[in-house]
Amino acid sequence: MRILITGGAGFIGSHMTDRLIGEGHQVVAMDNLVTGDMSNIAHNRSSSAFEFIFHDVSNHIHVTGPLDWVLHFASPASPIDYLQLPIQTLKVGAMGTHNALGLAKAKGAKFLLTSTSEVYGDPLVHPQHEEYWGNVNPVGPRGVYDEAKRYAEALSMAYYRQHALDVRIVRIFNTYGPRNRINDGRVVPTFINQALRNDPITVFGEGHQTRSFQYVDDLIDGIRLLMETPFNKPVNIGNPNEMTILEFARLIIALTGSRSEIVYRPLPEDDPKTRRPDITRAKTVLGWEPRIPVEVGLRKTIDWYRGAL
Ligand code: UDP
Repeated sequence: MRILITGGAGFIGSHMTDRLIGEGHQVVAMDNLVTGDMSNIAHNRSSSAFEFIFHDVSNHIHVTGPLDWVLHFASPASPIDYLQLPIQTLKVGAMGTHNALGLAKAKGAKFLLTSTSEVYGDPLVHPQHEEYWGNVNPVGPRGVYDEAKRYAEALSMAYYRQHALDVRIVRIFNTYGPRNRINDGRVVPTFINQALRNDPITVFGEGHQTRSFQYVDDLIDGIRLLMETPFNKPVNIGNPNEMTILEFARLIIALTGSRSEIVYRPLPEDDPKTRRPDITRAKTVLGWEPRIPVEVGLRKTIDWYRGAL
């Protein structure tokens, strides 16, 4: 197959690129490098199975030749990124998704939207299952990401209903692993790098808020299965292993053998208090569940950051 990956130079997009090239497919990676990085795909540049197009998908997308799949990964995905790039975040979720859907329709391609657990906002239902409609503040600072992704889901379903486009929607929960930018501000790279430098670990609020972290390879397995399964409704892909951010800070200190102290900083506005995926649908429909225990994935990730530092 020939497959377009928007955001192909990003953290998750580049892992998807590697998986598909490894399976023998042709990948066209598209990225404007706002949060993506060429170092993530440098190893593919000499491969005849790989093309790179420097382009902002919020503008009309032009790709010559056939496409079997359009996988839409492009978007800032870290809270500090989308707070700094609010309009670009809204545009890539709205116009970027529209362009990617239009391209998939024109090429007769299967389409994947990478959505997010953020569609559930600060959830009032726990754990979060796909039928829950969420609790999002549309005018808060996180609304630029959450609402863009919610609109992107609505638009994808409209293309499915009106144009019979073969659509897949994955709701990705907190994912970590190699290539997640050191300074991207998300909790996993931040805590690991603070720990490796023996700098203070910055826990926001009192650290009682929870998250559930999955290793990137599990996510890629889940998406891969979803693409093979004729199921057009959203599917949560995440690891239900929930912990508080304070517990997570202590785990990182233990795994790195760090001398870092924990310090407390203000909790960002609208920071979700709890998050844990209900993965019943992924188990039932895809036969998927995460396989990589958090300590195993974190050790691999810590080794990668050690190398990167
Ligand atoms: N967090 C923290 N310290 C940091 C960065 C993040 O305590 O230096 C917290 C943040 O407030 C949130 C959780 O870690 O409760 C996960 O944050 P992240 O930015 O990774 O993504 P989110 O899950 O909020 O989208």
